[in-house]
Amino acid sequence: MDCIFCKIINGDIPSKKIYETETVLAFHDINPKAPVHILIIPKVHVKDINSLKREHSQFIEDIFTSIPEIAKELNVYESGYRIVVNNGKDSGQEVFHLHFHLLGGAPLPF
Ligand code: 5GP
Ligand code: ZN
Repeated sequence: MDCIFCKIINGDIPSKKIYETETVLAFHDINPKAPVHILIIPKVHVKDINSLKREHSQFIEDIFTSIPEIAKELNVYESGYRIVVNNGKDSGQEVFHLHFHLLGGAPLPF
């Protein structure tokens, strides 16, 4: 499949991984928009929020419970951070493999 994030999961494209479980992978964004900018993705290919079904509830739970662990690892647990998910054209979504941006490390200017 021609999906950048599936290739990152497979190891075909390198990435700076920081967290991995059976269902979830997190790595540094290649073009960070904050001092800490991590992408958290499910290992199964799901296009976007609109494509979510009840059957995806396990990885959704895993992603959300991974967030505080990742925040601790990157020292933004206390200082704060923002989780962003773009969905579709008007949001500016560029990669059509569902991903959660974790942004922090400084007061966010937007
Ligand atoms: P979107 O706009 O789809 O919500 O965000 C896609 C994000 O993926 C962008 O922040 C972009 O910098 C990041 N990105 C795109 N290609 C790559 C890549 O090959 N490696 C990594 N680590 N990040 C990528
Ligand atoms: Zn994919």
